[in-house]
Amino acid sequence: MRGAMWDGNAMNLAQLLAKPAAAWSDHPAVAVGAGTVLTYRELADRVSRIAAGLRDVHGLAPGDRVALAMTNTPEYVEALFAAWHGGFAAVPINAKLHPQEFAYILDDSGAKVCIATEDLAEGIAGLASDLPELRAVPVVGGTDYAKLCAAEASPMAAAAPDDLAWLFYTSGTTGRPKGAMLSHRNLLVMTLSYYADVDRVGADSTIVHAAPMSHGSGLYLLPHIAKGACQVIPESKGFNGDEFLALLPSYTDVMAFFAPTMVTRLVNAPSLGSADLTNLRTIVYGGGPMYAEDCLRALDAIGPCLVQIYGQGESPMTITGLSREAHLDRDHARYMERLASVGIPRTDVEVRVCDGRDEDVAPGEIGEVLVRGDVVMTGYWRNPEATAETLRGGWLHTGDMGAFDEDGYLTLKDRSKDLIISGGSNIYPREVEEVLLRHPGVLEVSVIGRPHHDMGEEVVAFVVPRAEAAVDAAALDTLCIESIARFKRPRAYRFIDALPKNNYGKVLKTELRKSEASE
Ligand code: AMP
Repeated sequence: MRGAMWDGNAMNLAQLLAKPAAAWSDHPAVAVGAGTVLTYRELADRVSRIAAGLRDVHGLAPGDRVALAMTNTPEYVEALFAAWHGGFAAVPINAKLHPQEFAYILDDSGAKVCIATEDLAEGIAGLASDLPELRAVPVVGGTDYAKLCAAEASPMAAAAPDDLAWLFYTSGTTGRPKGAMLSHRNLLVMTLSYYADVDRVGADSTIVHAAPMSHGSGLYLLPHIAKGACQVIPESKGFNGDEFLALLPSYTDVMAFFAPTMVTRLVNAPSLGSADLTNLRTIVYGGGPMYAEDCLRALDAIGPCLVQIYGQGESPMTITGLSREAHLDRDHARYMERLASVGIPRTDVEVRVCDGRDEDVAPGEIGEVLVRGDVVMTGYWRNPEATAETLRGGWLHTGDMGAFDEDGYLTLKDRSKDLIISGGSNIYPREVEEVLLRHPGVLEVSVIGRPHHDMGEEVVAFVVPRAEAAVDAAALDTLCIESIARFKRPRAYRFIDALPKNNYGKVLKTELRKSEASE
């Protein structure tokens, strides 16, 4: 039925910027640290020029992909909106990835232009010869980028509801990242759903992008741009608790999106005791599990500002939410259970917990979380098999296991048990295992996460060497450095004679976790 009610002329997401550019033209739109970099009028002007430059200088046509290989920077905001203004699709790439992973995403997406920040540009330029579709890598601060900004401003392109807006690469359990296709409609619904369930936003609001703009924080750009709020990028371009706290007096109505580990780091920031938190409005956390005890500690330390969201790239930022009010309802009989939950389904989605045949299981029973709604991706880019599998029956199969309680609060159990979340970034064991298995001395391998006080989890590899083969931790480490992002590398290697397995020959990671815990 999708599209049946639409005539194909939906609102281009770039319209979210056009309205505040008129209504709040002199308001700060983008800032670095405490200093404004662009007003809304200036931002909108640059967006329409860069869009024209992409078309005229590089010959891009509607539907073409523009990759963004950028650490957090003001230009990320204009590049993202320029892609939409021109009718192109943005492909934001996690800046922490390895060059080989960049190469895979650039190749798979068929991006014709990759806008890069200086720190990443060299690595990407080195890949260009193997990427026939890639025409240019304009570097922020360089002459090619300046040329884009100097183009003659152009009117906004049309967009149909299902047109691709953001190709969100998420690591698949198969090891290769898959591009979740997020349409203009998906992201418009995500934006409205923010106002419905998470928070109000006004022209005096501020969002601080301390988490990567290629992921959650960048998705939250949208509800904030649409209301004329200021986008602040910390000078460090990332997260530092003391720096975040020091920014608060310079802005009003401040919100930020944090991974749970960032919330804990903020609570432990040395300057918290002396910080003025008056202007801190909301910290939305999600992307990984938050322990209820840590949540309580955060509420005590920073006050009534926490809202939790549960989402995934395939249903951006929007599956369930635990409201500010639920965080504060300490007298509720099931308060601690609720803090340990991910809240209730968001306004714009249906959420079910199902068994292996997609039949609903009873409250209290664990099953896979399924989601349906206009925020759910249109499919995986150039991957009809994975699309059919993941969206079978019209429901997004999240791969997350969870259980509803009688009141409709969802508690997640294990991400298909094995996902490792380190410093807020997902690490799929299979991807690391595949790299380690490339070593000729490795017979079998299994990768798990072990608790880490600061990062949440860190990677440990159990390796069964081949008989008489020479393999050591240093060689495996080198292999990983050559092929995957550094944050995915095992921090410890355990060489063992055999992996524990069940009757079906499946490796028992629970046994490995137990053995690691007793180490
Ligand atoms: P990504 O697609 O990179 O955003 O990762 C999404 C995955 O992170 C989900 O499928 C969950 O397994 C996990 N996740 C997201 N939000 C939460 C949350 N609030 N609590 C626990 N796990 C979460």
